Amino acid sequence: MEQFDVVIVGSGSSGGVVASRLSENPDRSVLLLEAGPDFPDEEELEPLFVVSGGQAWFPAGIPEMDWNYWNEPLSNGHRVRLARGRLVGGSSMVNGCVAVRGAPFDYDRWADYGNTGWAWRDVLPYFLEIENDLDFGSDPLHNDAGPIPIRRFWERHWDPVHHAFVEACVDMGLAYERDLNKPDASVGTVGPWPHNRHREIRMGTLVTYIREARKRPNFTLRADALVDRVVLDGTAAKGVVYIDANGDRNEVSADLVVVAAGAYSTPPLLQRSGIGRPHELRAAGIEPQVDLPVGHGLLDHANCAFVVHAPTLAERVGRLFLTSCRGPIGLLGEPEWQTFPVPLDEQDGTAALIVCLNRQEAEGYVRVQSADPTVAPRIDHRYGSVERDLERFEHAWEFFREAITRPAFAKHGARELTADEQPRDIVLNRLQTAQHPVGSCRMGPASDERTVVSPELRVHGVDGLMVADSSIFPDNVMNNTNLTCYVIGEIAADLAEGSRLAPIEDAR
Ligand SMILES: Cc1cc2nc3c(=O)[nH]c(=O)nc-3n(C[C@H](O)[C@H](O)[C@H](O)COP(=O)(O)OP(=O)(O)OC[C@H]3O[C@@H](n4cnc5c(N)ncnc54)[C@H](O)[C@@H]3O)c2cc1C
Repeated sequence: MEQFDVVIVGSGSSGGVVASRLSENPDRSVLLLEAGPDFPDEEELEPLFVVSGGQAWFPAGIPEMDWNYWNEPLSNGHRVRLARGRLVGGSSMVNGCVAVRGAPFDYDRWADYGNTGWAWRDVLPYFLEIENDLDFGSDPLHNDAGPIPIRRFWERHWDPVHHAFVEACVDMGLAYERDLNKPDASVGTVGPWPHNRHREIRMGTLVTYIREARKRPNFTLRADALVDRVVLDGTAAKGVVYIDANGDRNEVSADLVVVAAGAYSTPPLLQRSGIGRPHELRAAGIEPQVDLPVGHGLLDHANCAFVVHAPTLAERVGRLFLTSCRGPIGLLGEPEWQTFPVPLDEQDGTAALIVCLNRQEAEGYVRVQSADPTVAPRIDHRYGSVERDLERFEHAWEFFREAITRPAFAKHGARELTADEQPRDIVLNRLQTAQHPVGSCRMGPASDERTVVSPELRVHGVDGLMVADSSIFPDNVMNNTNLTCYVIGEIAADLAEGSRLAPIEDAR
């Protein structure tokens, strides 16, 4: 049987980083397994899907590069599609390229749950490690030497709706902030969104970390390799079984297995391996080995569009995802929502403010349905099932019903198209996902029954098995999740190596 020092499952935002960093040690053999296709010549050929094309954002919908997951229907029958990249680079190669850190209080809360080493002072060195901030360069809060270029679009490239949006938010008392990645920029601010789209190419792991890793002889990447399960010998991980493009089953052994298949695919992979709640595994015909709450506690940022009619604000001259605002303090002493504008349809004369909840209190699940790895898991975010989530939407709606009466929108004749409807009806009928699922294999001390992995990312009670991806979030961060997933990859590699970057004590 083939033997590697480390096998990593999933080449996305976290897995691509772990694999690349671990392969920097030439004495370590690293195998990266990815269910989706590879693009080995990407550096010369720049395949179309990595190019955002300025305005388009279509690749998430290509079935060949997506897992085609759906949320269970809401009680009113409304269905929500859950996009996930299935290719080398994973969701980092199909996402919207908003490149933001969470708020300092998010990571401090993680540490408060018992996750030593994950407070803001601990993670900031890794946010610096990953970035090359082309606007702010190198200063105590930015870095100009990391692999991920980050910048903000110039105001002269904003669509008209962005100018109106920023002006109205400032009129409503929010502070204009040029750098939304500053630690104190999380509450009551509006400004240009940092992004990691460089020369129109998504700076996902395929074109950054993995591009570098391919040059190393100790790094092996196998695409079109669907990992069925982790091989357990008692409570020790010994390797994985995967199905290759020919449909053949292969087993490889490794000293360390790192599962980085993402918040929807890591739980069923562990569950197929016998790790999960016993009754859920037996119901799917799987013999339980280790009792852990795998797949429980799934979270997301639910969103919904506040649509206005204003033909002059419907013009699209720039790119997507240019500006964003973070609301004032609300429930739980945190900003409850954030919003970004998009021109919708020039012919219909519509634009939208997309309202995202920063924290969804409703907890959902990912549950394996079969021992067959080609069968999709059941996924239910339980969107809209908790009163306080709906209240947060209502608060955002109040804010924007007021905002469009302000001169910045009023001078364009902006008119809300859903003015006759109750916010919660609008939400329950049209709710979508911001594509930020997390928390389905939570990190925390073994004494916390809701957790699956330790603060060192080791699966509780199993030797030689780590999880490193969006599933380990102990709860959601208030902002978009991709940069945090890169950071999880960096920290996972350091944990496997037995090293950590020094905390930054005065990190605010
Ligand atoms: C359409 C879309 C838009 C988004 N926009 C943004 C944004 O603008 N900004 C932002 O910050 N975040 C955004 N996100 C979220 C962000 O991209 C994710 O949080 C992040 O990519 C998750 O990283 P991950 O490593 O957990 O999973 P992924 O990046 O999804 O990686 C998981 C990888 O594992 C592979 N895999 C899964 N199962 C198996 C298996 N059994 N065998 C082998 N391989 C397997 C998958 O194919 C995939 O490549 C977006 C996400 C999507 C889908």
